[in-house]
Amino acid sequence: MQKIVIIGGGAAGLVAAIYAAKSGLEVTLLERNNNVGKKILITGNGRCNYFNDDWDLRHYHSANPEILKQIITEKNLKEIIDFFDQIGIVPKIKNGLYYPNSNQAVSVREALRCECKLNGVKIKNDIYVTKIIKKDKFVINPETDHIVADKIIIATGSKAAFKTGSDGLGYQIAASLGHHVIKPLPALVQLVTKENIKPLSGIRCDVSVSLQEDQKILKTEVGEIQFTDYGASGICIFNLSSLCARGLDQNKKEAVVINLLPTISDFISFMEKRNQKVKGRNLSELFDGLLNYKLADFILQKTNLDKKAKWSNLTLSQKEKLSQNITAFKLEIESTKDFDCAQTCSGGIPLTEINPQTFESLIVKDLYFAGEILDVDGDCGGYNLTFAWLSGMLAGKN
Ligand SMILES: Cc1cc2nc3c(=O)[nH]c(=O)nc-3n(C[C@H](O)[C@H](O)[C@H](O)COP(=O)(O)OP(=O)(O)OC[C@H]3O[C@@H](n4cnc5c(N)ncnc54)[C@H](O)[C@@H]3O)c2cc1C
Repeated sequence: MQKIVIIGGGAAGLVAAIYAAKSGLEVTLLERNNNVGKKILITGNGRCNYFNDDWDLRHYHSANPEILKQIITEKNLKEIIDFFDQIGIVPKIKNGLYYPNSNQAVSVREALRCECKLNGVKIKNDIYVTKIIKKDKFVINPETDHIVADKIIIATGSKAAFKTGSDGLGYQIAASLGHHVIKPLPALVQLVTKENIKPLSGIRCDVSVSLQEDQKILKTEVGEIQFTDYGASGICIFNLSSLCARGLDQNKKEAVVINLLPTISDFISFMEKRNQKVKGRNLSELFDGLLNYKLADFILQKTNLDKKAKWSNLTLSQKEKLSQNITAFKLEIESTKDFDCAQTCSGGIPLTEINPQTFESLIVKDLYFAGEILDVDGDCGGYNLTFAWLSGMLAGKN
């Protein structure tokens, strides 16, 4: 019987193991931690957001989107839904985001572990794969464990959140077997601003925020921003971070442009009317009940306006400048936070080096990849796990 070895017992590796074992093959899963699925446990704030109703190509990033298009298909979508049904995960769906009804990420990990066991997958924990050589067959850790396999699936994850086990060594192993690696960069991560915005630390507000690269707007997100002592966080920022990291790495100028009052279409006429309605207030007071007061004071200071000044005494150019700073509050980006803070990575094994139907390497026969090690990263909302499940299914099945 053919021996299949899967390296990495995360989301992708566990699903790959289940599918390979269902095909009647002898499957061994090697995991460096003392248990599988450590990262699954911290997903979705411990609740595991494992899928999203709005499963669409536009939520994914890759250097090769045209290949990704062949993976994000209706047929594959059905397969993912059916899989979770078959392994007994009852979904709790909130605004299109899927969580297990138990509200516990651990229940997803346990369902996967249980399926592995029932299908005869041999799980070997505490095995850190550092070297793979290919002769007729693959030999894993030749000098120590000397594990021989007919086919292998590398599912070692990326460098994101490396305390969970995925330290990026998988890239080196893939490279040693002849693959290229698109430089991995942190994604779904906080942004560090050039400007000191410490006074805003702790403020959360609903905004629309755009990523500007060399004066061009690349992407706009709507949602809650969280200002921190180093910069900005929040889902809307995370969803811009992958493009931002890639741009910074290419020495491009990156900035976020924030509309602090996105529901107001014309700030100046809104303020004219407001000033008529709540008479006698100074500028700072005029923002009461409209904008966080620390944020309003920060913007007034940035606009060189005295907070005690009256709206009616401002010149048109002062009103326009204030409007600009409220509706297009620009913060230049110094860097992203590092891999340990990132939920995922952009970059990895290029999709041009795998078969998008089977996830087999086009460079080394009988070598497959699954999960985050590949050059695919998704937005927040279940997209990264979905890619891990799906690539695991396709690699395992084939
Ligand atoms: C805080 C946080 C929250 C997240 N929340 C969500 C969410 O709610 N929804 C979502 O879709 N995505 C979420 N993600 C992203 C998601 O967890 C990952 O995209 C997904 O887990 C990737 O799966 P993977 O199997 O490719 O890699 P991993 O889950 O990283 O698994 C790789 C496994 O391989 C093992 N390994 C690595 N190298 C070796 C080696 N050399 N030898 C042996 N074993 C090795 C590792 O220990 C690990 O167990 C979150 C990520 C983080 C960090």
